[in-house]
Amino acid sequence: MAGAFWCVVEDDRQGQPKKVTAELIGEARRWAGELGGAVEAVWLTDRAAPEGLGHLAAWGASRIWLWEDAALAPYRGETWVPAVANLAGRESPRAIWGAVTSRHRELMARLAARLGGGIAADCVAFGLADGQLVATRPVYAGKIVSRVRWKTGPSLATLRPNVFKAAEAAPGRAPVVERQSLGAVTPATRFVERREEAQTGLPELTEAEIVVSGGRGLKGPENFVLLEELAGVIGAAVGASRAAVDAGWKPHRFQIGQTGRTISPKLYIGCGISGAIQHLAGMRTSKVICAVNKDADAPIFKIADFGLVGDLFEVVPLLTEEFRKLKR
Ligand SMILES: Cc1cc2nc3c(=O)[nH]c(=O)nc-3n(C[C@H](O)[C@H](O)[C@H](O)COP(=O)(O)OP(=O)(O)OC[C@H]3O[C@@H](n4cnc5c(N)ncnc54)[C@H](O)[C@@H]3O)c2cc1C
Repeated sequence: MAGAFWCVVEDDRQGQPKKVTAELIGEARRWAGELGGAVEAVWLTDRAAPEGLGHLAAWGASRIWLWEDAALAPYRGETWVPAVANLAGRESPRAIWGAVTSRHRELMARLAARLGGGIAADCVAFGLADGQLVATRPVYAGKIVSRVRWKTGPSLATLRPNVFKAAEAAPGRAPVVERQSLGAVTPATRFVERREEAQTGLPELTEAEIVVSGGRGLKGPENFVLLEELAGVIGAAVGASRAAVDAGWKPHRFQIGQTGRTISPKLYIGCGISGAIQHLAGMRTSKVICAVNKDADAPIFKIADFGLVGDLFEVVPLLTEEFRKLKR
């Protein structure tokens, strides 16, 4: 029987799988239907809520390999990788897929090295060639699209959030949970201090359907409030260019681009961002791109679906007001 498609669960650290996990399972189900094999979830966490397990089953994971142990949070490659690698050695999955998130990017790369398999990072599509799975992934900051095949199994890949269709939940499926033991863990690193992120009330950047992003054109950190107001009205997440991050106006987790986060929202609104290739690398797969820039020749207008040439300090408050009226 064909090996299973394993989907590594990305969760909210509160015991619930994130939307991107539904996307992983949705895509895996599609290819398991074509090629055979089951779709299974692989979850390493310090807390798995029963409803979270229920979601995984409802999305179509026929089995959930679960490690629930305080030693698994926060993420540490040296703790996570041996657990999954050992199980993969025993179960021989056909594929192991994770999300394009900070920890999954590292986990999957380490797993590939440990298992001696190939990894297709940052996939935006899958297809078949000669009966074999082929992954599509942007390279050179999205200028070229490459198609890659795995020479040996398992087929490891990371999938970009918001690109693949999420599995629809079919309630009533009871989760089949295979609890795994982490065994004795003696990590070489120790956490000294952990700071929780302040809750903004806005959606998470990589999962948001709308992103409002600010660059050097904002002139200073205090002006991000303009974007936060707009974001609050339209339910968007706020992001930033590297220039804004390097200037210390926003922490690095807000940065979009080659050396920051990769996003694919339904709508991206860039304000005071020139559109350098390294920025585009992180957002060019957004479905609709809108740019506000006072320079009509700014490169971002070359890829924008809608461009507003104007001063963001006038345009953004007007947009916020108009959206507010529409919502009323
Ligand atoms: C190896 C490497 C990796 C990099 N990784 C990243 C990355 O991950 N993400 C990233 O973003 N960059 C990255 N960069 C940097 C990138 O090359 C650019 O320098 C950066 O994106 C520029 O940011 P910006 O658009 O905010 O600033 P600028 O290029 O300075 O553009 C500011 C824009 O604001 C406009 N503007 C000014 N005032 C106003 C106003 N009042 N109203 C409207 N518009 C206004 C200007 O016309 C201008 O177009 C990387 C660079 C390197 C070399």
